[in-house]
Amino acid sequence: MKIVVVGTGYVGLVTGTCFAEVGIDVVCVDIDEKKIANLNKGILPIFEPGLEALVIKNASKGRLQFSTSLEESIPGADVAFIAVGTPPGENGSADLKYVLAVAKQIGQFMNSYGVIVTKSTVPVGTAEKVRLAIQNELEKRKLTISFDVASNPEFLKEGAAIDDFLKPDRIVVGISSKKAEEVMRKLYKPFLLNGHPIIFMDVPSAEMTKYAANSMLATKISFMNDIANLCEIMGADVNMVRKGIGSDARIGNKFIYPGIGYGGSCFPKDVKALIKTAADNGYSMQILQAVEAVNEYQKTVLFNKLNNRFQGSLKGKTIAMWGLSFKPNTDDMREAPSLVLIDSILAAGGKVQAYDPVAMNEAKHIICDKIVYCDNEYEALENSDALLIVTEWADFRSPNFERIKELLNYPIIFDGRNIFDGREINELGFEYYGIGTNNN
Ligand code: NAD
Repeated sequence: MKIVVVGTGYVGLVTGTCFAEVGIDVVCVDIDEKKIANLNKGILPIFEPGLEALVIKNASKGRLQFSTSLEESIPGADVAFIAVGTPPGENGSADLKYVLAVAKQIGQFMNSYGVIVTKSTVPVGTAEKVRLAIQNELEKRKLTISFDVASNPEFLKEGAAIDDFLKPDRIVVGISSKKAEEVMRKLYKPFLLNGHPIIFMDVPSAEMTKYAANSMLATKISFMNDIANLCEIMGADVNMVRKGIGSDARIGNKFIYPGIGYGGSCFPKDVKALIKTAADNGYSMQILQAVEAVNEYQKTVLFNKLNNRFQGSLKGKTIAMWGLSFKPNTDDMREAPSLVLIDSILAAGGKVQAYDPVAMNEAKHIICDKIVYCDNEYEALENSDALLIVTEWADFRSPNFERIKELLNYPIIFDGRNIFDGREINELGFEYYGIGTNNN
């Protein structure tokens, strides 16, 4: 089989590389010439654990190629994945301009039957728009080429993307013909060997599944954040409550960690897009509106604790920040809660000294030199007045507390991810402020 993956970002690069890894010929296409030139030299545009080695290995075997030309790549492809961005438009809906531009180009260059697959997260009805865009171009070319459009939403998690792709919890595929089902089953066969299920369904249901999944996960986070905030008021400890409820099999212990709000390129935009889809169709997603509101509030919680501790006077204070990316094991800074925190601290007249194991380059693109970037976590503490834990990188879980105390002007830790046990930290001589815990 020959496949083309259009869009070589977090999703497209992982998708293309993992298909190549099981022996399929893959061309990854992107309009970003620099990205493709770098990939051809083995330089990756993103940090994703394990990805670099797989890209280099499969490229050297000739199964994984990179190109800027859809015109050269599309002819003869059995399957073309559309994996370009679907950022939020001004009104919150998913902006489909990149997806539809690719669909149009596919229609301009395809020369035989193929399955065109939307892997980008797209609202219900998009596959039909893709079909029309392709059909339009074929009509302009006065050609009758049969094709199918399928929806195959991606569920990988940044930071664990390779494992998620190679050993998926499930693969969801929306199809509208038996032929497309056969092609997609054949393509995914190598990933199903150890019992990983593939679920075929109609296209609108597949499109909706992705939004429902991300919205459910965002709901779990906002729910726990709401509970955490109430725990603080009522004198309960959310760490205990989490263990207490997580042991109920109906609830489960995953994804119920409170923190400083969800971020990243998916949850914020997908929750917004689903609210908008509903509104456009005369329905109000009441739970998701609350999920968003809680998340916005939660991004302010750590700053409020910091500001209160210094009696509303952060002017001239230097704050050490451990972690910048929206979660560990990625350099993705899109919608990272750290950005909101940094803005608030700077607006209050404070300074930020930050360290992140991989996201500092990405952060520099967004916030430039508004903060000081440090070479390691301890350098960030020098002459700082407090430490904020913003991303729960494994590197930060068992630090040298004596050294932290020596370096900080005041022994104060604000733990936005509850990675430390507050009581233990207090015993070590620190003031400790967690999320939803009562030992502040
Ligand atoms: P990304 O921004 O990292 O990558 C998108 C790529 O598409 C960029 O490299 C861009 O240059 C390229 N592109 C744009 N227009 C193009 C065109 N006309 N032709 C060729 N390439 C083009 O995006 P991402 O994070 O990989 O997300 C892609 C989609 O997958 C989105 O819809 C997203 O919601 C969804 N998704 C993302 C994740 C994730 O964790 N990042 C997980 C599941 C689903």
